[in-house]
Amino acid sequence: MAKPVILTVDDDPEVLGAIERDLRRHYASQYRIVSASSGKDALDTVQQLRRRAAAVALYLVDQRMPQMTGIQFLCQARELYPEAARVLLTAYADTAAAIDAINEVGLNHYLMKPWDPPEQKLYPVLDDLLQGWAGRVRPQFEGIRIVGSRWSPQSYAAREFLARNQVPYQWIDIEEDAPTRKLVTSVAGESPRLPVILFADGSSLIAPDNAELAAKVGLRTRAARPFYDVVIIGGGPAGLANAVYAASEGLHALLIEQYAPGGQAGTSSMIENYLGFPGGVTGADLAQRAVAQAQRFGAEMLVGCPVAGLRREDPYRIVTLADGHEVSCHALVLSTGMAVRELEIPGIEPLIGAGIYYGAAMSEAALYRGQDVAIVGGANSAGQGALFFSRYARSVTLLVRAPALSPTMSRYLVDRIGATENIRVINGVEVTAARGDGHLEQLTLRGIAGGETQTIDVAALFVFIGVAPRTEQFAGFVALDEKGFVLTGPDLRKRDVAWPLERDPLMFETSVPGVFAAGDVRSGANRRIAAAVGEGSAAIYSVHRYLMTV
Ligand SMILES: Cc1cc2nc3c(=O)[nH]c(=O)nc-3n(C[C@H](O)[C@H](O)[C@H](O)COP(=O)(O)OP(=O)(O)OC[C@H]3O[C@@H](n4cnc5c(N)ncnc54)[C@H](O)[C@@H]3O)c2cc1C
Repeated sequence: MAKPVILTVDDDPEVLGAIERDLRRHYASQYRIVSASSGKDALDTVQQLRRRAAAVALYLVDQRMPQMTGIQFLCQARELYPEAARVLLTAYADTAAAIDAINEVGLNHYLMKPWDPPEQKLYPVLDDLLQGWAGRVRPQFEGIRIVGSRWSPQSYAAREFLARNQVPYQWIDIEEDAPTRKLVTSVAGESPRLPVILFADGSSLIAPDNAELAAKVGLRTRAARPFYDVVIIGGGPAGLANAVYAASEGLHALLIEQYAPGGQAGTSSMIENYLGFPGGVTGADLAQRAVAQAQRFGAEMLVGCPVAGLRREDPYRIVTLADGHEVSCHALVLSTGMAVRELEIPGIEPLIGAGIYYGAAMSEAALYRGQDVAIVGGANSAGQGALFFSRYARSVTLLVRAPALSPTMSRYLVDRIGATENIRVINGVEVTAARGDGHLEQLTLRGIAGGETQTIDVAALFVFIGVAPRTEQFAGFVALDEKGFVLTGPDLRKRDVAWPLERDPLMFETSVPGVFAAGDVRSGANRRIAAAVGEGSAAIYSVHRYLMTV
């Protein structure tokens, strides 16, 4: 922890030197002594300290300064650090002003100049005030602070992006924190675009996109080399397994992830059927372990970098990122998985990120503590979500189209939902409309059988209504099945897809030689984490065989 600051302000260099010396002598081991020679300079310093999330314990300020009096300074500085103790240095003639300031700026004490000997006239007073400050102030958070509005979708996006990438941050709601609001105004203007993200070094970003934020927080967003043996697109379980096996077997491997490693599995609050974890494992934990393992073997990983296109310049396969950068490789693995399907109902658009969320949005759970939330969907992911949010929300309503939870949801989840008091299940309904003023307030439901409607008041809706393959960018490049999944291996022949070589396609090889697909995105895949990991590792065997031919 950095030391808290004692800030002293005086325009007279001799007095400033003397007070600084006395403060250092007694307090330097516990506090950082910072000085300024005018009220204006001191205010700039206070702004910077606030931006860096430094703690200010005490202001010691001369009343008589030409451009800005001590009281005027304290008036403004108090807004940024309301808890800091305020002490005025006065001459005898200023006593009346000092007494007025007790009410005006909540002055804690005024000291007459000179303060000799400090052991009697200075230290006892300041010791007392500093002790009081330490007792009432929580230590400042020194890492990344996201300042935004709870109902701004961009603020949600930044929180979720950092949370999914396991970067710690503090969330500050601008509506509820006056000192931070003032600070944000100084950084980003009167009506700032939100969120404003403040970093410990005093720098800030205003409403950044994921790539900008990723680069700033130290996630890798640029490939180190122009060429790799294998490039893997997508960092879910399949892609991470690809990376572990490729790198551990000596290949130069680059994994490119558009959002955060872990993929769909990374959003799971508790995975209970993955081999080797009898007590279950959270998606975040599994992703973190896999990333560490891949990196330990030397795989390179880009995060926050969507792949926008692919092309072929034999024997190379070229990958174009959304920012226009390109990398080339001999072999390419597509493991882009699936994305949560969108809910198409009237009123939903302005409420996405403002009460309506796709998937588990675990970063939001604490914000809905004690409130009523709903989940739409009837598969395992919805069940896991319901159990997760029931730990925070007052009530969770699970909205299911089917007449009963089973058989779409695993038995162990159905049983646990039945045993959780604050979860209620409404079967046989669909959500037909969402309503809210700036944020979600109400949902309309319609019965599937009878068509009757009802409304429920909820603060949040988490959507888990199935998934669709993420193959839009590759549609013209590799052959897809009628649902948009990538065709591979023997399926190519079975479907009469044109194949340019004499040899048969390898296992996991797509209609383009040297381009492979693994995991949920592959036509015919068994959509489970263990299956994706298995395909990811097995596909590297085919990659090796292909590399022997180029
Ligand atoms: C909430 C939830 C809970 C689940 N729980 C379980 C469970 O308990 N047990 C179980 O076995 N299965 C579970 N599943 C299913 C399981 O998570 C998936 O089968 C598995 O994650 C598939 O892995 P994958 O690597 O093929 O794809 P994904 O996990 O979908 O990963 C694909 C990755 O590719 C990235 N990507 C996509 N397009 C691009 C692009 N253009 N550029 C760069 N990157 C891109 C995505 O951002 C994503 O990270 C769950 C799924 C969900 C949604």
